[in-house]
Amino acid sequence: MHGDVPARTVLVTGAAGFIGANFVHYWRRTHPDDTVVALDALTYAGNRENLAAVRDEVVFVRADIADGARVCEVLREHRVQVVVNFAAESHNSLAVLDPGRFFRTNVLGTQELLHASLGAGVERFHHVSTCEVYGDLALDSTEAFHEETPYRPRTPYNASKAGADHAVRAYHETFGLPVTITNCANNYGRYQFPEKVIPLFATNALRGVSLPVYASRHNRREWIHVDDHCRAIDAVLTAGEVGRTYHVGTGTEASVQRIADLVLDELGLPASLQTTVPDRPGHDRRYLLDSGLLRDTLGWRPTVPFEEGLRETIRWYRDNPGWWEPLLERRPVEERAWTESGAGAR
Ligand code: NAD
Repeated sequence: MHGDVPARTVLVTGAAGFIGANFVHYWRRTHPDDTVVALDALTYAGNRENLAAVRDEVVFVRADIADGARVCEVLREHRVQVVVNFAAESHNSLAVLDPGRFFRTNVLGTQELLHASLGAGVERFHHVSTCEVYGDLALDSTEAFHEETPYRPRTPYNASKAGADHAVRAYHETFGLPVTITNCANNYGRYQFPEKVIPLFATNALRGVSLPVYASRHNRREWIHVDDHCRAIDAVLTAGEVGRTYHVGTGTEASVQRIADLVLDELGLPASLQTTVPDRPGHDRRYLLDSGLLRDTLGWRPTVPFEEGLRETIRWYRDNPGWWEPLLERRPVEERAWTESGAGAR
């Protein structure tokens, strides 16, 4: 028992990825009596090293969420009660070049996982989604997305995540599967694959390679430390209302230019170590979530101030080259690839 909650078996999918691995670490710290089954297909983005510190404490299963029969077996064998679904293709830039794999994993894979979870009678299916399903906001907009904002995805990644969210709701409405969803702002922290902007900038800077800043350098994102995201999912699993969606955001926005400036400043490098690159096709200008529901009903608050968390993250990359150096050659896309392939020409 931990507090009033009896020990459970929790299946974490996408557990060898950035947020999934941080969630496994978080869950081991905060719910030590629970059994964690960490499932991952180990795509280029999955890395068992992310789970090295808990290797002896969790059951690792290499499997694809789109393989329904295998997922059924895992759910039954381990008597899984709670599923937390992080598994996804997650890189917008790769989605421009290879959209099919995004729809296969994010939509069809999620549906297979939902179906298997229904068959196995899981007590909760929590799905991890993104602010990006709503499309983008003008840079000078005074609006924020709320839980009832209509979906208006603009990229294959966004659209595949939107499709997954609809599938999750359909399994609740049609079959009564007890689901919850969180749509979260952009995450940063340790173990993020060096294709996403913060680790890309940090690892480039650490190698003396210039930072590729998109031409629309003032486009901004709302940023959240991955530990605050994990705490939010915990709050929803513990006290969230079944069938509901909760937004997870900090209200703290930063442009790509500010990120580049902070990375170079933290590492004591000159501002000249950056170069302008063309925008990715369909590049969203801005996202901002209204997370009032989560704050007001479940009492969640972000705890990590952005600049402090970002500087600590940059120092983590500086201190752990052995973690990220082997990953560089696994990066599936260069930030200029679409200009060469003609993808997204319009
Ligand atoms: P990530 O790419 O680092 O990790 C994804 C993991 O899923 C990888 O380990 C990969 O091997 C695994 N995976 C991919 N396809 C799979 C499949 N078919 N079966 C099983 N495993 C598979 O991504 P992340 O940044 O950790 O994102 C995790 C989740 O959070 C995703 O659903 C993403 O959409 C969502 N999300 C991410 C952010 C963010 O800022 N990173 C923000 C909001 C929501």
